[in-house]
Amino acid sequence: MITVVKCIKQHSLQIENIDELKDIATRYVAVKNYVYSRYAGINSLLILNNAKKEIRDVWVKAKFAEQWCLPARYWKMALDEAIANIKTEWANIKLRVKSVTLKNENLTEDERSFILYVIKADKLLFSILKHKSIEKTKKIEKLVIREKYIYSLIRRYVRKYKGKVPYSYNKRSFMIDADMYSYKKDKNGLYIEIMGLDRGKRIKVKLKDENIHKGNLRIILNDDTLEIHRPKKVKANKNWSEDKVIGLDKGYKTLIATSEGKFYGEDLNDLLSKETERLSEVNAKRNKYYALHKTYIEEGKTKKAENILKFNLGKKKYNKLKNRHESVTKSYINQELNRFFISDKPSEIVIEDLTFVSWEKKFPKHIKRKLSSWIKGYINERLNYKAELNCVLVTKINPAYTSQICSICSAFGERVGEVFTCANCGKTHADTNAGVNIKNRKNDKEITLYTPYKKVKKILEDRIA
Ligand SMILES: [Zn+2]
Repeated sequence: MITVVKCIKQHSLQIENIDELKDIATRYVAVKNYVYSRYAGINSLLILNNAKKEIRDVWVKAKFAEQWCLPARYWKMALDEAIANIKTEWANIKLRVKSVTLKNENLTEDERSFILYVIKADKLLFSILKHKSIEKTKKIEKLVIREKYIYSLIRRYVRKYKGKVPYSYNKRSFMIDADMYSYKKDKNGLYIEIMGLDRGKRIKVKLKDENIHKGNLRIILNDDTLEIHRPKKVKANKNWSEDKVIGLDKGYKTLIATSEGKFYGEDLNDLLSKETERLSEVNAKRNKYYALHKTYIEEGKTKKAENILKFNLGKKKYNKLKNRHESVTKSYINQELNRFFISDKPSEIVIEDLTFVSWEKKFPKHIKRKLSSWIKGYINERLNYKAELNCVLVTKINPAYTSQICSICSAFGERVGEVFTCANCGKTHADTNAGVNIKNRKNDKEITLYTPYKKVKKILEDRIA
């Protein structure tokens, strides 16, 4: 049985003493941000895998964590969470270094093998990054490499992909483990009691439903309510019976276009356009009020200025409408992706690997503006998640030129908006054409995920010739 992780949510009713929970969240995030600032750097690379002994135990002994005034369980949880995130960041950096190494045509086979080996061996990597001498293991001592050049290349790559020190701006969320909460039921319904700041005193919160959860929970605080998020393993369902491979293009105007000529999420563009319009109108109005507010301040009319802030520039309604649009968009995306998996019943989907190729190249400006950053990530995450949930294999392919060649004769053609024109075959729908190319790329023996962009072009040109 294949299982996947699903996020279960539970909501509370209004909480009267939410301030204590907010304090916990603020302090919890302060611990996380301290850990980021202190341990996200190269110097700490080697202690991450032994964080319990090297950090946690040291903090306990030196009473270092007392500065945050948090019960030990809370700061330990925050510490673990931040360390896990730093480790994930390192894993992503290594993945990127691997990808650029494989694509770098200036390297010899030996040099590639060397770099790929080093990024898996933290001690070696650490020594190179810190300009220290290294002890070569048997596996790499035979490799012939330009040492100085390769070491500095590794340093350059890591520096390039090592982003800024992570920082959590969301001061309203924290994790609790099974010992930090309990569920209690009485004649009024179900409560959760969460460990508070004072020893032995728990914070009682009434819940909307009667589901009792176990294990680690994430608490998300709103103005005067909270949400409980719990990852839960659920059984994956398989609704396909034979091999059915479908190529997917993230459409020009639609959510997805399939290699079989179908479209899903055709209203997404509309939905986003309307919101973009609404927001720009609202922001224009707000700017006028900001100007007026400034004038009143300058004229010394403080009461009037205050009223403007209160009645015309409040954030509550503004955020409420924005959030509402976000949740409408999210549920539309989910609904359309579900419709695709149910009606097309793919056993495998082929998609472009956009990890290293940004959407910048793929879409024109006015579309990019609408695809605000959270949507890109959200669609990707949901697509992968729903594929997993339906036991559908996800294959990623090299995206180079998939929207610029003809899916029938492989010649280079022209894409203008929704129309793709091939000099030999005529006009087709640009997204469907790309969908078919994406599907075909899966079986392309020459163009792999790591073939450099220029080389792909050369291969495609040779084929037509
Ligand atoms: Zn053609």
